[in-house]
Amino acid sequence: MDSYVSHLECAYTGQHYSADGLHSISDVGKPLIVKYDLGRLGREISRSDIEDSSEPGFWRYSPLLPVAKLEDRVSLGEVITPLVKLERSAHLIGAARGKVIVKDESRLPTGSFKARGLALAVSMAKQLGVKHLAVPTNGNAGSALAAYASRAGIKATVLCPDNTPEINTRETEAQGGDTHLVNGLIGDCGKIIAEGSDDVGWFAVSTLKEPYRIEGKKTMGIELAEQMGWELPDVIFYPTGGGTGLIGMWKAFAELIELGWIDCELPRMVAVQSTGCAPIVKAWEEGAEFADFWENAETDASGIRVPAALGDFLILKAVRESGGFAIAVSDEEIHSMVEGIGQEDGLLMCPEGAATAAACKTALDRGLIGVDDTVVLFNTATGLKYPLPEVTSSIDKRVEINYQMFG
Ligand SMILES: *Cc1c(COP(=O)(O)O)cnc(C)c1O
Repeated sequence: MDSYVSHLECAYTGQHYSADGLHSISDVGKPLIVKYDLGRLGREISRSDIEDSSEPGFWRYSPLLPVAKLEDRVSLGEVITPLVKLERSAHLIGAARGKVIVKDESRLPTGSFKARGLALAVSMAKQLGVKHLAVPTNGNAGSALAAYASRAGIKATVLCPDNTPEINTRETEAQGGDTHLVNGLIGDCGKIIAEGSDDVGWFAVSTLKEPYRIEGKKTMGIELAEQMGWELPDVIFYPTGGGTGLIGMWKAFAELIELGWIDCELPRMVAVQSTGCAPIVKAWEEGAEFADFWENAETDASGIRVPAALGDFLILKAVRESGGFAIAVSDEEIHSMVEGIGQEDGLLMCPEGAATAAACKTALDRGLIGVDDTVVLFNTATGLKYPLPEVTSSIDKRVEINYQMFG
């Protein structure tokens, strides 16, 4: 096994960098993107080789991934995440039954799609001989890093804002991450990590500040295409924080087209944010290339509580190129979708995933998308990591039971 990586490229200037050795960001401070020799890949690997692969989960797309040696692959039993059609709850969105499909990423190790990105980042760190990794996180990236790093025998340090949900910080600690709470925002955590690099010698795997997490998130796009018979939906709603997944999927589609593995129309990409933290939506509405820092970011959907994204221009470019849009929804709309989809379809969404459902409803209401469109929503984590409704009814076994109450 070898990789088809040809080089790294600055996503802003196009400047080339060698793929050997450790890299964070480009000389102009922008993300580095992994480039492949797709000509050679296409001659040596066919789509049916991929279909016949028996590798677990997204590792079936290994030719399109950067890990060169099987022994450097760090795996915790990844799965192909299912596509679950909304049936009984579709009316809550104003959609026809079965037209709105949830790609349920909650089934991945550590209960979130962060597993995809961190599996790749940790595997590449192993390949490159890194001994200590660090990440600033609002929750799910920390536990995914901790799990994969422990599995690889690499030390992981995780810095979280002190309002990070306790379930995330405990989960991170339980999976071997050296976890610390910081009285600040995710940016403050990132600053501490950046400034400590020389002293401690850790390598930061912050969103888009190393090239490989995107490659992991890219597999959502390839997987979706293969699951749909190498076709794609009309619209994708994606809960956008740092935007890794949206950028990654757009990259995946471009690579699949270049390989000739798909020739369908590409989906309209919709960046979904919260009204309490909507820097990308604001930049989209203003027609700007970059997004301004969002002051006083506040939303219960902690995965999309990201006031500044290094890849802002890449998110906005993908949204524009695809003919999509950016849209914000309130926490009230989010909670109502978590409740409704859970109760009517038995699918427990995380708030970020529920935000995509709420955005889909708004888009249908405003005529931004059509009722005949096939729509995919990303449920990016398990709803079990978030506060759940309290059970208030109790039964006293010593007194006569009033069975009317169960009717
Ligand atoms: C990190 C995260 C997001 C945002 O993902 P990006 O690809 O960085 O935009 C969305 N939902 C959940 C649950 C997350 O943990």
